[in-house]
Amino acid sequence: MGEETLEAQQKQVIEEVLSAYPAKAAKNRAKHIGVDSPEGVKGSCDTTKSNKQSVPGVMSERGCAYAGSKGVVWGPIKDMIHISHGPIGCGQYSRGGRRNYYIGTTGVDTFVTMNFSTDFNEKDIVFGGDKKLKKALEEIDELFPLNNGISVQSECPIGLIGDDIQSVAKIHKKETGHQTVAVSCEGFRGVSQSLGHHIANDMIRDHVMPDNSYKKDFESTPYDVSIIGDYNIGGDAWATRILLEEIGLRVIAQWSGDASYKEMAIAPKSKLNLLHCYRSMNYISRHMEQEFGIPWMEYNFFGPSNTTESLRKIAAFFDEKVQKKTEEVIAKYTKMTDEVIAKYKPLLEGKKVMLYVGGLRPRHVIGAYEDLGMEVIGTGYEFAHGDDYKRTKEDLKRSTLIYDDVNEYELGQFVKKMRPDLVAAGVKEKYVFQKMGLPFRQMHSWDYSGPYHGYDAFAVFAKDMDLAMNSPVWNHTKAPWEKEEIGA
Ligand code: SF4
Repeated sequence: MGEETLEAQQKQVIEEVLSAYPAKAAKNRAKHIGVDSPEGVKGSCDTTKSNKQSVPGVMSERGCAYAGSKGVVWGPIKDMIHISHGPIGCGQYSRGGRRNYYIGTTGVDTFVTMNFSTDFNEKDIVFGGDKKLKKALEEIDELFPLNNGISVQSECPIGLIGDDIQSVAKIHKKETGHQTVAVSCEGFRGVSQSLGHHIANDMIRDHVMPDNSYKKDFESTPYDVSIIGDYNIGGDAWATRILLEEIGLRVIAQWSGDASYKEMAIAPKSKLNLLHCYRSMNYISRHMEQEFGIPWMEYNFFGPSNTTESLRKIAAFFDEKVQKKTEEVIAKYTKMTDEVIAKYKPLLEGKKVMLYVGGLRPRHVIGAYEDLGMEVIGTGYEFAHGDDYKRTKEDLKRSTLIYDDVNEYELGQFVKKMRPDLVAAGVKEKYVFQKMGLPFRQMHSWDYSGPYHGYDAFAVFAKDMDLAMNSPVWNHTKAPWEKEEIGA
């Protein structure tokens, strides 16, 4: 199909979907949905409205600021204890779902999969929970003496009743000499989890960065780098670390997947910060650049084409020794990834994918699908900002549907009308589409699989996509367009 015809069809689909709304809602949502292509001089990636309040009443798929701070940035720091301050539900329902792998003995020196909560009840809401928090901090230190610090993650009620968590944390730190950071990341702040990332970055800037206790004995090398914005989902940061070490770099910190407090504190000793999830950690990367003069570079380790391009970009920052090793590593793995492509491309070529993920993957994984001969026909973000959409344009290969903060109705309709072979989104969407008879992959935590970063992990990615789409289970169910009028 010609690009103009495709673009016209996609615009028609948008019009049809928006026509179900009252005029005001349609006008609002039209600013978040559009079409763009690599040639589009000014397409949706340049103009789409993002990081705005969701329309009340629609089923937004977004998370909250608490989820952005506790669930994404702070939670994976393995030797600190992150206490969810407020009623039990927020902590319990966000526990362990991200699959941030770590090495350590849980409950002794590492705590990522445990749920710590002040478990607020009615009395705490009425009379305040400061005393309860203080007691919880003391109990944590008594029961888990090997913890390397505590972060207090505020849930919504804390902001509403005005508990002074900053003072409680400050006093506990003074009395025990033990790092204690209060993070005011109440869920109602901002429009999505994105503000929680920013608040969490700011607290790391203010409390962890100035801690010089580990820096004085640190011995630098010219090849020291930090991985920023990799949460080690299913082992992603480990896969990344192996590759970087193979090309001759020394990874001194992983932020924050499988990270220790010490790693967080020594990151300002890096020669280069390597930023994977731009959206959640560009703030701290910019801070380290301004404060300590550390340059930062974005990279993309999804799929062999992106990985090779990124490795060369990283190597160009260092000397010829690293560049030579990088070419050797690329040659070694290209043989392996060519075999993966030879095996899976015939099974996947021409399949169409619609993506809807968080703040990075809607653009970063496009190349990995293309390496397998697949085509991304629609993509969108839960909590992106304008700079994320601008970056997306570079990854588009042809006219693509772009949707920001898409809701359940819109995504369902887009899928019905665009007929992808695979929907790759989050757990809230997973069962909706599977029950529609559509192959689905959960792209926040890799659907209990992974890692997906780097060359080795591409074999896992390719196998997962094949299993998702070519499973015989789909012979026993029908996609909506096979059993009803399209668009009904
Ligand atoms: S919005 Fe508030 S109550 Fe809901 S999960 Fe987030 S912090 Fe908890």
